[in-house]
Amino acid sequence: MISNILDGRKISAEIRSSIKEEVLKLKARGINPTLAVVLVGENPASKVYVRQKEKGCGETGITSRKYELPAETTHEELLSLVKKLNEDKEVHGILVQFPLPAHLNETEVLAVMNPEKDVDGFHALNVGKLVSGLPCFEPCTPKGVITLIESTGIPIEGKSAVVTGRSNIVGKPVASMLLARNATVTIAHSKTRNLQKVVAQADIVVAAIGKPRFITADMIKEGAIVIDVGINRLPEGIVGDVDFKEAARKASWITPVPGGVGPMTIAMLLQNTLLAAGKQGEN
Ligand code: NDP
Repeated sequence: MISNILDGRKISAEIRSSIKEEVLKLKARGINPTLAVVLVGENPASKVYVRQKEKGCGETGITSRKYELPAETTHEELLSLVKKLNEDKEVHGILVQFPLPAHLNETEVLAVMNPEKDVDGFHALNVGKLVSGLPCFEPCTPKGVITLIESTGIPIEGKSAVVTGRSNIVGKPVASMLLARNATVTIAHSKTRNLQKVVAQADIVVAAIGKPRFITADMIKEGAIVIDVGINRLPEGIVGDVDFKEAARKASWITPVPGGVGPMTIAMLLQNTLLAAGKQGEN
């Protein structure tokens, strides 16, 4: 079988264009959707992500406010900025770019954030709601994964899904969201025995490990949907966690890296900001 490519660039462009229309509608009601992005320190990858997020805001008419703080910012200073943004009625979404420098406590930063402005979906309240199947801000990368799967038109219900990776930002929330859509979900991790056999029974494979081309074609069931979240920087460029070239011979649908999940993550952040603005604007 030759796979269909799940083109995250194309799908995310369509989503951005519908967000743009919704932003105009909110603006006509006097609501100016605004995302505050906080960047602490000089992490080069974080700087790239923040720039991409600002660009996405610009393209959709969402106002982005960037707060760049020096690496030596104290914990109190950062918490005080987040609290200030919580109170600011003109700000609908707050995103603190992780990882933070080691002396800052990410859990505490999330804990002080107003969950209604937590467009990344990492606040414990939003995590709890996600697991409980209650409406919440779904975290952006997992939401992008689900949107890509749904874009195939193949129902998730009843499918066997294997998520490789159990991080709080990708693996666990993806698994919860697949379960909420009635997939039969297995979460695999570094202690999983016989990973090959576990993955080979999956109709849907989500790879979120962080190891280049770790999921090989022999692990993929003929006709499976394969979503590759991995971003691995190699001398030859960025590659995913899946051996794309070979796996594409067996999957029915597969995401490329780059150009798959990555662009979806930003589109989902913009979508969450739009939702936050719409909701707060009603109050
Ligand atoms: P983490 O490093 O937090 O988690 C990796 C997971 O992979 C862990 O649960 C780990 O298991 C598991 N793992 C490691 N080795 C193996 C193995 N040999 N077999 C099975 N499982 C294994 O990574 P993240 O979840 O944060 O990210 C995963 C990948 O996704 C990375 O490449 C990252 O760059 C990318 N990413 C991409 C995003 C995007 O927008 N496209 C956004 C976020 C991440 P254990 O828990 O046992 O250690």
